[in-house]
Amino acid sequence: MALLQISEPGQNALPHAKQYTLGIDLGTTNTLVATVRSAQPQILKTEDESLIPSVVTYSTSNPQVVVGTKALGAAVKADSLTIRSVKRFMGRSAAEIKFSHPYPLVDRGDSMPAFNTPIGLKSPVEVSADILTSTMLRAEAADLGDLAGAVVTVPAYFDESQREATRKACELAGIPLLKLLNEPTAAALAYGKSNPELQKDGHVLVFDLGGGTFDVSILKIQDQLYEVLATGGHTSVGGDDADRLIAKWLRDQASTGEIDTQAQHELEAYAREIKQQLSNNAKVEVNFQGFSGVLTQDQLSDMIAPITDLCLKLTERALRDAGLTKDQLGSIILVGGSTRMPAVQQAVQAFFDKEPMSSINPDEVVALGAALHANDLTRESANRSNLIDVTPLSLGLETMGGLVERIISRNTPIPISKKQTFTTYQDGQTGLIVHVVQGEREQVTDCRSLAKFTLSGIPPMKAGVARIEVNFSIDTNGLLQVSATEVNSGVQASINVKPTQGLSEEDQQRLLTEGMQHAEQDKNTRQYLEDRLEAERELEALTPALSEFGHLISDDQAEVIQHAMQVLELAINQTKADDKANQDQLEQIRSAHASLKKLSDPFAAAIMNQAVSSELSGKTPDQI
Ligand code: AMP
Repeated sequence: MALLQISEPGQNALPHAKQYTLGIDLGTTNTLVATVRSAQPQILKTEDESLIPSVVTYSTSNPQVVVGTKALGAAVKADSLTIRSVKRFMGRSAAEIKFSHPYPLVDRGDSMPAFNTPIGLKSPVEVSADILTSTMLRAEAADLGDLAGAVVTVPAYFDESQREATRKACELAGIPLLKLLNEPTAAALAYGKSNPELQKDGHVLVFDLGGGTFDVSILKIQDQLYEVLATGGHTSVGGDDADRLIAKWLRDQASTGEIDTQAQHELEAYAREIKQQLSNNAKVEVNFQGFSGVLTQDQLSDMIAPITDLCLKLTERALRDAGLTKDQLGSIILVGGSTRMPAVQQAVQAFFDKEPMSSINPDEVVALGAALHANDLTRESANRSNLIDVTPLSLGLETMGGLVERIISRNTPIPISKKQTFTTYQDGQTGLIVHVVQGEREQVTDCRSLAKFTLSGIPPMKAGVARIEVNFSIDTNGLLQVSATEVNSGVQASINVKPTQGLSEEDQQRLLTEGMQHAEQDKNTRQYLEDRLEAERELEALTPALSEFGHLISDDQAEVIQHAMQVLELAINQTKADDKANQDQLEQIRSAHASLKKLSDPFAAAIMNQAVSSELSGKTPDQI
């Protein structure tokens, strides 16, 4: 009898084929790729180079596409174009690319403009795919077997369109994507695997300070389950600022006046060297335009205090978001090249009164964590670690009066699915627009519009009778699906949110900060708009009711109601010019509405009585 070959979940059906997984840190400046061998994560290197510079040169001469170190040193020629920091362009529309860059871009009306290279147009997704392909070449050179899949990391602040662009790049590079994972989460996992202390239940803070960005994440570890409780940070603070501060200090010492851009670049490169030397030396000799002196670690520490102060303020905010105090943290993990600075380590240690962890190379830790997670995902492992990411901004939809109904709050662990029921506003309404927005404010105009779709074909019903269930689902990759179903008729429409407009990191920061700054004012505006809406609905219902059922009340009563309606209408109109009424106007609407209700309630009762008695007339108690 022949045996039937079967395969275990996540394993290859071929009996002897070896399977491997990859963790890829697709960085703005450098890309790293790692795998797990003999249960140990390791970076895949060539000729002792672990970093692949995230740089691609396209040229008409062969080879047409060059990635990494060779592209980094490519000469500027008419028949070639070298693209750096393509990550900044991922998921961004032409209108959103506000930062300065030297590239010829062509807006093809797609979600992202393309680079105009000598060998044709290349979208940011295609350029990223070329970088990813070079990671695959590394893996193939290591002769690891068959690729089962990869975990690719993205910044915690990447929005849906940036994540979607990254997924597409993987698809184009032929990489089976197991999951997109937030970079700080991957780093925490790398430490969790190698550090038994970290595997115990508790809270961990990941402090990631790179060249130009700061990310902070707070994780809860329980029963080997990693949950991100909160994330925060800043998109334009990092080691590059330290370089600029040292450069400024050098210019001040040498009393140098204005210098041109090229000279400033060179000076900052020199400053970077000094800064990095100061990570291993108490002081460094410096020479610049006739000035000779020394810079000490302590001086650098004072110089960069604004950077460390800002990072610690943002850390405090993330702690508040997570509902934790400093002393509730079990460990603090340092990630990113700039955490090599003793000044940063000391500031973090002083803030938490606890020594931070920094034993894993801060450049490699993200790729190593991603590799471990990829390995876990394809294995039925007893000590498999589960990671839960969070939504960086709240998601909701537009309701009457331009108000936002929040469906999923920011910092909610994903995957998540949430449902809410809505109804129609007008009699006979057969369609409605579902407008999905992102942000922390109460009004749609203050949030970011993500997508819109129409639910049509609702059978005509009285206002308020239709039951429209709206479901928001975010999968493990952070991609959002919104569906709307009219429950009585089963009519349905849905959308996968692949917004044509990505969200710039600066915008994200702004949306968060504005949400906090305007919280009180927003609460008042929402209250006002809700009260006004209720008053308007009352007026809209009363007008037809008076003509249809006016005979149920006396002429005098009808006149008094009409007068009260006019007073309310006037109060509303006075505030309509701007949507942010003052407290007095709001009180006027409320009191006019209350006066009207005193008169209209008995009228509504009379209508109801009549409806009930005509319904009952001629029926026996049994029939009732
Ligand atoms: P990353 O974005 O994580 O690659 O970090 C890059 C930043 O780390 C740059 O600002 C580097 O100057 C900085 N960096 C790298 N090595 C060191 C070091 N030894 N000391 C201080 N800063 C460093």
